[in-house]
Order: sequence, then C-alpha cells, then structure tokens
Amino acid sequence: MDKNLWQKVLPFAATLLMLLTISPLTGLASQDGESADDSFMSYEELVENLYQIEAESSGKVEVSVIGQSRQEREVYAARVGTGDEVLLINGNIHGNEKSGPEALMQMLRTLGTSDSSLVQEVREGVTIVAVPRLNVDGAEITQRQNIFPWDDVMAAYPNLEGSEPAWYYSERNGGFDINRDFNPDLSYEPVLEDLPGTGADPGFFLTNESRMLRELYLDLRAEFGKVEAFVDLHHMGTPELNETGEDVTVAIDYPPLGPEDSSKYDEWSELDQDASRRYALAAALGVKEFSDNEEPGVARYLHPEERDLPGQARSSFALNGTATVLFEMPGQQPEYGYDQELIDRVENGLWGIVTRMANNSIDNLNGNDFLKLPKYWTSNVSDMETLVERFATEGEFEGDKAVHSLTMHLNAISHYAQEKEADKVVKHTHSFKSLLDHQKEEELISEKAYDRLTDDADYLIGKWQAY
Ligand SMILES: [Zn+2]
Repeated sequence: MDKNLWQKVLPFAATLLMLLTISPLTGLASQDGESADDSFMSYEELVENLYQIEAESSGKVEVSVIGQSRQEREVYAARVGTGDEVLLINGNIHGNEKSGPEALMQMLRTLGTSDSSLVQEVREGVTIVAVPRLNVDGAEITQRQNIFPWDDVMAAYPNLEGSEPAWYYSERNGGFDINRDFNPDLSYEPVLEDLPGTGADPGFFLTNESRMLRELYLDLRAEFGKVEAFVDLHHMGTPELNETGEDVTVAIDYPPLGPEDSSKYDEWSELDQDASRRYALAAALGVKEFSDNEEPGVARYLHPEERDLPGQARSSFALNGTATVLFEMPGQQPEYGYDQELIDRVENGLWGIVTRMANNSIDNLNGNDFLKLPKYWTSNVSDMETLVERFATEGEFEGDKAVHSLTMHLNAISHYAQEKEADKVVKHTHSFKSLLDHQKEEELISEKAYDRLTDDADYLIGKWQAY
C-alpha cells in the first residue's frame, strides 16, 4: 500500500479499532497520522540489516560491537573505506530521535555495494565509522534518555555515594541525557566534588554509551593521529524560517562553545570553530546538491553566540581538534513518524561531507558562508525586525499602525544595541513588550505573532542584562 493511502486510511482504521476493542492501540500510527511509527527499525532489524550490509559488501563494510548498554544490548559500529582521514558518525544518542539510524543504514548500503566512481572515490579517500544507534535502550521505549536509575549509578560508582544526581539525569525517566555526559578531558573519571554540575560544565562520563563512544574516538585517534570530523544526528521541534515562514526541513550546526572571544577554552588550543563551520556548510551544500528539489528549508540550528554546552559529544570532541557537525531533523518520535524524504535529505547532507573529504575540497570552503544559511530563531534585534516584516506580510497584524510602532521601537533598540548601551536596550525592549501587550488587548496582533515576539524580546532582555 502506498504511504498516501495509509495516511488516509489509518486515522479511520484507528477510530474503528478503538470502537471495537478496549485494548490500547500502541505502535500503530503516530498521533498526527504522518505514518506508522513501526516503520523505524527495531533493534533486531538494525542488527540484522548491519550484518546483511556487511555480507553484501564483500569485505568493504566491517561490523563490530563497541560495547553493551545497561540492559545488555550490544551497540554496533560499521566501518567502511580505506582513506587516511576518519569521519565518525553517531545516531540516535537520544532514544526518541530515530531517523539517524535509517539514514546511516542507507548510506552504508550504498558505500558497501555501489561501484560508481563517486562512491569508489569516497571509499578510497575517507574512512567512515558509523554508530547508527548509540542509545539502544532508550530507543526501545522511544525515550530521550538511556535507562540507568540513580541507585544503579551509586552501585557502579561507589565513590559518588551521597552525591545529588548529575544535572542531566532525569528522575522521571530513570536515565541520562547521554549527550550531556561528555567531557573534553577524555581520561576523565567522575569524582564526588564535580557533581551535580550545570549545563556550562563538562559532563562526567557516567553512562556506558558515552564511555564506549569515547573509547571508539580514542582508538580512532590512536590509529589515524586525529579524528578529522564527527557528525551527530538528532531530531528537534518543527520551527519556521524567520524570513519566509517556510518549514525548516533540516537544521545544521557547529559546536556551542560560547563567544569565540571568551578565554574559557583557551587551554584547548586544538579547537577550530571555523573548521566545524566548513564541515557544516559541506553538509548544507550536500542536502541541496544530491536532491532534486531546491531544499529552501535548510537552516542554521539554534545557536546564539553565548550558547555553551561543553558536555555534548560534539563539543567535547571539537575541543580535541575534531570538526563537528550537528544535524537536527524536524519532529521527534513517537509524534513524528517515519519520513523517507527527511531520511534521504540527511543522507544527502552526509554525502556532501564525505565527497568533499574525499577530494580534499572541504578546506576550500569559507566557514563564514555557513552563517549565511537562514535562521528560525532570534539572536539579535535584526532577527526580530525580519519577523515583524514577515508577520506583517502574513496578515498577523490589524492595520499598518501596529506594524509601524513595533518597527519604530525595534529601530531604537537596534540603535542602542549598536552603541552597546545595554541598559537602554533592556529598557526599550521592556517597552516593546508593553506595546505588544497593548496590541494584544486591542486585538491588533495575532496570538502567534504576540507569543513569538514576546519570547524573543525576553531572550534579548536576558542577553543584554548579562552583557
Ligand atoms: Zn537530540
């Protein structure tokens, strides 16, 4: 049955079934009816597919086990290519973000079986090591965190007895956000005085998963001298571009390590944010080059300059000199179902990276060009001006006067921001918010525009208060 037909039939079928039975319906369809959630590979299917690809590749793809989860599932890596630069790709570190493994399996299959000149060039020029699904336990129950209750942590690390749980431990889900569990000090072992920590601190390497990825990274570094690049595949919300209001179809990023003129990471002399931006640009170009569509929805992922998350895998590896790229796909599981177009888009982005690694053209890119990709978030006043313009053309205001007065306010804020007069920026942004409140009371502005502009004004106030 084709997918479109399923989309029409499923909501009806689900309703019918609910009328006929009192047993809960699970795994039949995602809530928005996108498609059946069980189109994503189960753990068993993932393992089966990996070995099948290995078998079909006549020795080109090599599958290995890199460790075991707390629930004793084996975690797999696949390696292909003989190039002297290594790219490490990680998927599904968050258990509810399942398209990464799908994209990686497609890519591995092509790398293992195709003899096109492009694929041969990639196999000869790059060594690719992919961990399609790192958080195997979380993925089983479609949960962001792994499964590692704090009592078990205490048993595994008796030296932490008496500590509060790490800040990225979820009491509710009994596990960790693995993508906050990394530390740029790759020999780090958790000590009592470092916990519970904050988002601005490195993580503690508490989880099996972060530790096995660290091991793999260190092994590759020993073998190649350097891990050239690292890619991490995620899902996010479903935002719209600031300027056009079009849906973001994939967002890409370089590591969030705070303002680049800060001295916080001075001792990490290998950090090269511009290299990460070149790789991120290569990914964005790949999405467009390998697609039949124009792909206008390729965006920069949320990254105001003060964003600083050293405990993310990509940040810790970047501090060790690896260029790192984040892919964020719209929608998370189970709400957002299997989306073949999205999976292809991510695979295309990966080809954008590996083809440029293979022909050594990645270093010719200009990292600053990455910053020209469209945004869907606010980091400065001009982003808000763009939003007001777009909302005006979309008819989110009643009359020109409302638009005009908001624009005048933003002009003033922009002036004070340029002069770095933080107090005045804060004061005038507060009065911009009062104006929004007034417009809402008078029904001159839509709920959507009001909510977004108020949130973004709050962000600017926070930013300039800290200035
Ligand atoms: Zn994620």
